[in-house]
Amino acid sequence: MLKRYLLAPGPTPVPSEALLAMAMPIIHHRSPDFIPVLDTAKKGLQWLYQTKNDVLILCSTGTGGMVGSVNNFFSPGDKALVINAGNFGERWTKICKAYGLDVKEIAYEWGYAAKPEDVEKALKGDPSIKGVFVQASETSTGVYHDIKALASIVKKYENTIFVVDAISALVAHDLKMDEWGIDVMIGGSQKGLMLPPGLAFVGISDKAWKFADSSKCPRFYFNFKKERENLAKNQTNFTSPVTLIIGLNECLKLLQKEGLGNAFERHDRLAHATREAVRAIGLEFFSQESHSNSVTAIKAPAGLDGQEIYKNLRVKYGITAAGGQGKVKGRIFRIAHLGYADTFDIITAVAGVEMVLKGMGHPVKLGTGVAVAQELLMI
Ligand SMILES: *Cc1c(COP(=O)(O)O)cnc(C)c1O
Repeated sequence: MLKRYLLAPGPTPVPSEALLAMAMPIIHHRSPDFIPVLDTAKKGLQWLYQTKNDVLILCSTGTGGMVGSVNNFFSPGDKALVINAGNFGERWTKICKAYGLDVKEIAYEWGYAAKPEDVEKALKGDPSIKGVFVQASETSTGVYHDIKALASIVKKYENTIFVVDAISALVAHDLKMDEWGIDVMIGGSQKGLMLPPGLAFVGISDKAWKFADSSKCPRFYFNFKKERENLAKNQTNFTSPVTLIIGLNECLKLLQKEGLGNAFERHDRLAHATREAVRAIGLEFFSQESHSNSVTAIKAPAGLDGQEIYKNLRVKYGITAAGGQGKVKGRIFRIAHLGYADTFDIITAVAGVEMVLKGMGHPVKLGTGVAVAQELLMI
């Protein structure tokens, strides 16, 4: 038997409170049983998003939330400014192009964070840009983009909205939607929210709702105005993913018990311990600055294949971490500290990495990184 450990940046482990609640018989989404369930989810999401506005719940993966955030607020030909610093930044470009938007990219070398002054310059140069698109945490590189600084720039432009893919950052990073002026913020169930895949969340500002009035992109399944009308009645437009929403309420309850500030602090602490442990082993981060609290991206030592490290962790020791995506496949591997994660997830991951590297012939003194993580996480 091989005991399995899930340490990937999505899907992430699901707490038993949620698993058990999701084992109950299905209730009907148009019956009175479901009204309080959706009402609780709605309020919990507003709390998590730090917003007074509705947060839509969509039955899709996170990418569905990204698609809906393009075709509900923009029109073909609209100018979009995409911050592309990784695999998910590239996805924004692909989605915007699929709907006929006129995409201008600010591209950064993978491993680096967006520079707010570049966005300021682009908007000054062309105030007809209607949307600025970014990731909060670029999961493919382990970089966190400075959302607060970026929001403060876009906020000054009346005809531009700020669209943030916070799918892997929610719960791990403090994202003050209303206070900072984030216009559209997308989340997904299988990351910090500790649920199975299948839900996307979209928080929308008043400024963005005005954009929805003039948007001319074709749409049917992701129709945010219809979702908003339904949400007011504690319904969703189509059949609600009742099971996942019941699980969501359990996870939100756990987070509310912990406190939002404590959840951010926990992710910060785990991420820091992971990085220090990895550094002690003599490995280098792939992220060169502004490290994400959700995932640590690590360079494979010279001569070793990152995919092999990822594979050995899984096959030999039952640890499912992550390899590299897109053009860095083989060059890196990634360890998540996201969602239902705590001290011994980090100890497990670091110990596994040491054992795998040693097994692959890399000089590692076993316990070096583990000791550092223990020191940092001891209470
Ligand atoms: C996981 C992830 C997504 C969405 O992926 P899905 O497979 O559609 O859920 C989008 N952006 C980021 C930054 C992610 O980490």
